[in-house]
Amino acid sequence: MTTHPSPISDPTAAEMHWSRWGDPAEAGPLAESAFALVDTFIGTRETPAVAPADVRLTEPLAADLVAELAEIVGAAHVLTDHETRLHRTRGKSTPDMLKIRSGDGSDSPDAVVRPANHDEVVALIDWAVRRHVALVPFGGGTSVVGGLAARRDGFAGVVSLDLLRFDKLVEVDRDSMTVVLEPGLRGPAAEALLAAEGLTLGHFPQSFQYASIGGFAVTRSSGQSSAGYGRFDSLVVGLKVATPQGTLELGNSPANAAGPDLRELVMGSEGAFGVVTAVRVRVRPLPEVRTYEGWRWPSFAEGAAAMRTLAQAGMLPTVLRLSDENETAINLAKPSEVGGESAGGCLMITGYEGTPAAVEAKKAAVTALLAGLGGENQGPDSGQAWADGRFHGPYLRDSLLDVGVLVETMETVTFWSNLDHVYTAVKDALVASLGAETLVLCHISHVYETGASLYFTVATKASEEPLPQWLAAKAAASDAMVHNGASITHHHAVGQDHKPWLAEEIGPVGVEMLRAVKERIDPTGVLNPGVLIP
Ligand SMILES: Cc1cc2nc3c(=O)[nH]c(=O)nc-3n(C[C@H](O)[C@H](O)[C@H](O)COP(=O)(O)OP(=O)(O)OC[C@H]3O[C@@H](n4cnc5c(N)ncnc54)[C@H](O)[C@@H]3O)c2cc1C
Repeated sequence: MTTHPSPISDPTAAEMHWSRWGDPAEAGPLAESAFALVDTFIGTRETPAVAPADVRLTEPLAADLVAELAEIVGAAHVLTDHETRLHRTRGKSTPDMLKIRSGDGSDSPDAVVRPANHDEVVALIDWAVRRHVALVPFGGGTSVVGGLAARRDGFAGVVSLDLLRFDKLVEVDRDSMTVVLEPGLRGPAAEALLAAEGLTLGHFPQSFQYASIGGFAVTRSSGQSSAGYGRFDSLVVGLKVATPQGTLELGNSPANAAGPDLRELVMGSEGAFGVVTAVRVRVRPLPEVRTYEGWRWPSFAEGAAAMRTLAQAGMLPTVLRLSDENETAINLAKPSEVGGESAGGCLMITGYEGTPAAVEAKKAAVTALLAGLGGENQGPDSGQAWADGRFHGPYLRDSLLDVGVLVETMETVTFWSNLDHVYTAVKDALVASLGAETLVLCHISHVYETGASLYFTVATKASEEPLPQWLAAKAAASDAMVHNGASITHHHAVGQDHKPWLAEEIGPVGVEMLRAVKERIDPTGVLNPGVLIP
C-alpha cells in the first residue's frame, strides 16, 4: 500500500470565510449589472454582518476534558480559540449565514479536535461515550441542511471532530480502477492527487472547492457531471467506519448478494452512525478532452422532454442541465453575466469528456437527437461560459445578503410523469409564502431514465426578520414537494432541517428502522445528536 502526500496538508490553507461561502479572496460586492437588476426588481439596503470577534460562541470545553483529548491526539490538535471554533460553527445554508452574520454562534463546538488516523477516531468515540460529549464529524463544512448543528442539551459538551488531517490517497488499484481516499480530502486536493495518477473521480458538485470525500459519501452528494460519472453513492465501493461498537469495514467485492447492502446505511448517515475514515471509490481515466455547448429551447417543457429522450435512449452526455425561462432570463447559468442581455427561451448545457474519439461519437449522436427534437445549437460559447463560472454562483448569494436580498436554494427529485406538477407546486408555494415580488428560478440538474431533479433558487426582499421569513417559505416548499410525491432531497441530505419531511417520506416503519440502527450502534447518542434521525 503506497501513501501519497496531499498537496494541501496545511490545515489553514483551505479555510473558508467565516460568514460567507468560499474563498475569502473571492468575496466581494455585486457586479454592477446584477446590482441594477435586484435594485429594480427587489430593492436594496445595506445589511452588513457583525465583526467576527462579536459572534457569541458557547463556553470553551472544560480544561480537564481538553487535557484528556490532548492525551489522545496531542495538545497541538485540540483547539478552543474563538477563531477556530467560529470556523467550525454550522454549515453554509442561508439560515446558517443569517444566524452567524447576526452574531448568533450558539451552535459552536466547545472544542475542535483533529485526529490523524482511524485508531485516534476510535479512541475519541470511546472518550465521548465515557464523558457523554456530543461528537460532530466535520469534513468541508458545506452542509446546507443543519448537519453540523448538533443538539447540545444533556451533553457535557459538543466537540467538532475535524477530519482535515485525513488528507491522503492511500491506495491505487489500476486493474480494478478503484482508489482508497481519506475522508478529509477536499474536492480539489483529491482531484490533484488522482490527476497525478492519470485518474479522475469526476465528482464536481458546486461545493467542490471545499466539500470533502467523507462528506460526499455520508450526504449522498451529486455533482454537475453526474450524467456521465454518476452520483457519488454510485462511485463508492467500500467504506471504513469507526462506531461506538467498533470498526465496520464494508465493500470487499464489486457486487454481491450477501444480504442488504450495508454501505447504503452508511451513505446518507451524516455522522449519526459512525465516522467514515476511508472510502474506496471507482475512478476513470483523466479525460483528454472536455467540451461544453449551449442549446436553446422554446420552453422548459420541450427542453425537459429532450432530456428524458436522451436518458431513456442511453445517450447521456457527461453534463446535462436545463435552466427554466426565469433562470435563463437572468443568466444564472453564467454567473459573470447575471443581469446582462439574454436571448430568451431556456438554456441547456451539454458537456462531453473522454477520449477525442469517444467525445466526437457521443457529441454527434446527441447533437443529431437534440436538433431533431427542435433544439437550437448555440455552439461552445455559452457552454464554456457556464463551465468557467460553474463554481462562482454561490458567491452571489452572500453579496445579495449584504444588500438586504434573501437568497436560498432548494432541490427535489421526482419521476418524469410528475415533474411539471412538482415544478409548479413548489414555485406556487414559494410565491404564496414570500409574496409576488419573489424571483423563483429553476433548473433540471440531474437526470435518470425514470426522472429528474429540480433545483430552485429563490430571491426576495429580506424582511426585518429574515430567518422566520425564510423558514416559513422553506416549510411551504417542502410540504409542496413531499405532498406531491417528490422527495425532500435529491442530494443535499437531511441534517436537522429536513427531518420532519423525511419522517413523512419514509413513514413510521422507516423511522423505526432508522431509530433501531441508531439505538444499537450509538446507544448513548453521542454521534451528531439531533441530525438525521426523526
Ligand atoms: C454553495 C454550495 C453548493 C453546493 N452544491 C452541491 C452540489 O452541487 N451537489 C451536492 O450534492 N451538494 C451540494 N452542496 C451541499 C454540500 O456540499 C454537500 O452536502 C457535501 O456533500 C457535504 O460535504 P462536506 O465535506 O462539506 O461535509 P460537512 O458539511 O462537513 O458535513 C456534512 C454532514 O456529514 C457529516 N460528516 C462529514 N464528514 C464525515 C465523515 N467522514 N464521517 C461521518 N460523518 C461525516 C457531518 O457531521 C455532517 O452531518 C452544496 C453546498 C453549498 C454550500
